[in-house]
Amino acid sequence: MLSLSERGKQVAASSTLAITAKINQMVADGLDVIKFGAGEPDFDTPEHIKEAGIDSIQAGFTKYTAVAGIIELKNAIVTKFGNDNNLRYKPSEVIVNCGAKHTIYNILQAICNPGDEVIFAAPYWVSYIEIVKLAGGIPIIVETIANQNFCLTVDQIATEVTDKTKAVIINSPSNPTGTIYDSEALREIADLAVDKRFYIISDEIYESLLYDGYQHCSIATFNNDIKAITFVVNGVSKAYSMTGWRIGYAAGPEDAISAMSRIQSHSTSNPTSIAQKAALTAISGSQEAVESMRVAFEKRRDLICERFDGIDGVTYVKPQGAFYIFPDFSDHYSRTIDGFQIKGSQDLANFLLECVKVGVVPGVGFGADKNMRLSFATSEVEINRGLDRIKKALNG
Ligand SMILES: *Cc1c(COP(=O)(O)O)cnc(C)c1O
Repeated sequence: MLSLSERGKQVAASSTLAITAKINQMVADGLDVIKFGAGEPDFDTPEHIKEAGIDSIQAGFTKYTAVAGIIELKNAIVTKFGNDNNLRYKPSEVIVNCGAKHTIYNILQAICNPGDEVIFAAPYWVSYIEIVKLAGGIPIIVETIANQNFCLTVDQIATEVTDKTKAVIINSPSNPTGTIYDSEALREIADLAVDKRFYIISDEIYESLLYDGYQHCSIATFNNDIKAITFVVNGVSKAYSMTGWRIGYAAGPEDAISAMSRIQSHSTSNPTSIAQKAALTAISGSQEAVESMRVAFEKRRDLICERFDGIDGVTYVKPQGAFYIFPDFSDHYSRTIDGFQIKGSQDLANFLLECVKVGVVPGVGFGADKNMRLSFATSEVEINRGLDRIKKALNG
């Protein structure tokens, strides 16, 4: 029968797509749009990493590799986890995938049965919902608020745990909020996971982008019991400005990693050979570029916070990591400005785009309609110009 599967019919496109398409159309039309929508660093991939990719092409490293990643890269990841996170893994507990999104996809495919429940916080990274559903799981979304730094508490999780609970996803630092879990909160969640027997999927893709001297804490580090049931997810996209190369990875329980590898063997096979070589250089080479990008992001974070301090009716939680700020604009809802009726984040995003040509992402797509996501992966000049426009639009 010529009809799509229920899965094919029901999977939602990224909710940020509509506004992004509109922003891009305006830019293509030659309009001076200031874009705060980017979900990726604006820096070029560091030169020595690009060269490693080029060298691997020249050397003919252009064929299939081991499905779960070349052993040199897996060894480098093992070393990285040891040095940066004090986590000891064997190469057989590590897998390389086509981006951390694909890593999370494979994890859910490997652990979810139909009807299994997966708990995570709102505001959430948009793909968690669809990835859980595509694995037959049920997303259990728990609302968090600015006052709790948008972090799940152990009590919130405990309330939601049932005999169907398969996993809890923790994203620290968070996209879209930029907030991080403190280690005490993580320890409590770890103890609950060990006690109630569910997996932790710890999305640590923004690990290297932390500000104010904060140190990253991985939930897997507290003891061997939690390490045995945690997937530590990371990748090169955000730290090394390598979003297009598509390399993500995870360490976790060997049986699940092995299942992920078998699943991957029938879908993508290995991640791109040349991207693996570039990722190997990224992870095992000089980390200087990572630090200089981090410093640039911290300056931009300070600037965008300072500029929001000067706008009435907008509050925010100061981002501690990543490159997003997620301010609450709801004081401006129910206003009508220049004929625009603003009832929620979608309306406000449309208003800002059409009236003052500033592109932001409405919070409703992240499960938080009071908020808007602005990426500060853009220059200080653009941040200043954009915030001038937002202030004028909202405060007159
Ligand atoms: C960007 C991002 C990812 C995945 O990035 P990849 O490019 O697929 O490696 C995963 N989680 C969060 C929260 C992200 O923002």
